[in-house]
Amino acid sequence: MSKTGMERLQELKKDIFKCIHCKACRFAYSGEPSRKGIGEFKGKQNTVLYEGMVDACPAGIEYGWEAFWNAGKMSIARCILNEDLDFSEEVRDVIMPCITCGQCSAQCENKVRTVDIIEALRAACKEAGVPMIERHQLVERLTKELNNPYGGKAEERFKWAKDAGLEKYIDNKDAKIGYFVGCTASYRQIEIATATCKIFEQLGINFKLVEDEVCCGSPFFRVGAVDTAQELMNKNIEAFKDLDLVFFSCAGCYKTFTNDYPKWMSEGKVPFKTMHAFELVSRLITSEKIKFKPNKELKGKVVTYHDPCHLGRHMALEIEQRIIEESKNLMMDSRKIRQQIAEWYEVPRIVLRQLEQDVGIQFKEMYRIKLDSFCCGAGGGVRAGYADFSLRTASLRLDEANAVEADIITTECPFCYRNLYDANEEYNHGVVVYGLIQMIDEFKLLDIKEKPTLEEILAMKE
Ligand code: SF4
Ligand code: SF4
Repeated sequence: MSKTGMERLQELKKDIFKCIHCKACRFAYSGEPSRKGIGEFKGKQNTVLYEGMVDACPAGIEYGWEAFWNAGKMSIARCILNEDLDFSEEVRDVIMPCITCGQCSAQCENKVRTVDIIEALRAACKEAGVPMIERHQLVERLTKELNNPYGGKAEERFKWAKDAGLEKYIDNKDAKIGYFVGCTASYRQIEIATATCKIFEQLGINFKLVEDEVCCGSPFFRVGAVDTAQELMNKNIEAFKDLDLVFFSCAGCYKTFTNDYPKWMSEGKVPFKTMHAFELVSRLITSEKIKFKPNKELKGKVVTYHDPCHLGRHMALEIEQRIIEESKNLMMDSRKIRQQIAEWYEVPRIVLRQLEQDVGIQFKEMYRIKLDSFCCGAGGGVRAGYADFSLRTASLRLDEANAVEADIITTECPFCYRNLYDANEEYNHGVVVYGLIQMIDEFKLLDIKEKPTLEEILAMKE
């Protein structure tokens, strides 16, 4: 069932040699929704916003040196494969402070799968005997012992559910639908887990919290501890295998089950459908089964949306890769790629526009959105390993929320939520951070016209 990092790196050899070191992946387009503020708005990180193509790789912005931008890492991968360079702690310290945000991959016209390469490089580095940085070793130790990176006890994983009167869903025998909560929402952002369950309950969904759930393995796929990641993957597949559909509220867990598990399983696919909870809400809006209620407290508030990298760019790039692999005429299919990616990015925006129409919020996009969206700084093992860099990156993102005068920044990932929340406190950005589902639950906004049937929910995903 398992592959080594070096095998994965060899699989990606064609991609690695496709990189021509043009460095276009350093930049992304800043949309300038209104030109107001250009050259005038100064963010907390001393940024002056935003004129056309801007530096977009958080690692390059933070460290500045050639090797830290993506093109440098592609050269390192090439040198490793050519045996011109050996793995060492020095190499590790260049390839680790990268958020695996995928901005570089999205910008690359050669379609180099940069994140897959960086993750395989990290795995091969560990296999070559180079120890992981201490913080990552600690997180791995905790997870091997307790099945989560936070050091939480197994019996407390669903404490929030018991406290919120949701106990009946724990190992609910009749359910065909599961909810994979994830470690961050189980042990830290319990408000997101609770809100997601309450929304399911209001919609009449018979779902199950699976007691044998363990960490999805995302942190370990990212930092190169793929043996640990695959152990966790195997436990989760065993625990969830009898379900028809599994919901997620975390962008990272969703991406890991949907994109990573198939790549690391010899079967090549997971035995159930996967869906993020906001997709359900969005599709119920489109089918006119739900609307939202007006709310005096939210009326007039400027609300913006942060696309989590794992949910936006990573899923979009997967759509692109799938169509490229299946294509017989890429010229013709490039329109299909653009269309499907545009549709995917519309999913959360359908929810925000409905909130604008029904609740009276003012939905305002930030300067960099969708494929060009700037990262929150939490992923790729960076929050655990390089906390200052992580928070500064989140603060750069919050500068963009400030630039459009947002009162509230929403997102659909407890990990993005946490990092944006902490940077908001640390750097005094003065915005309110919410999970989208959390906001819908907290202000009791759901106005249900017709509850969906099990068949209708299952049919939402092919
Ligand atoms: S990854 Fe793509 S954009 Fe970046 S340097 Fe290589 S070819 Fe150029
Ligand atoms: S994944 Fe993100 S942080 Fe890493 S090299 Fe690419 S753009 Fe930079």
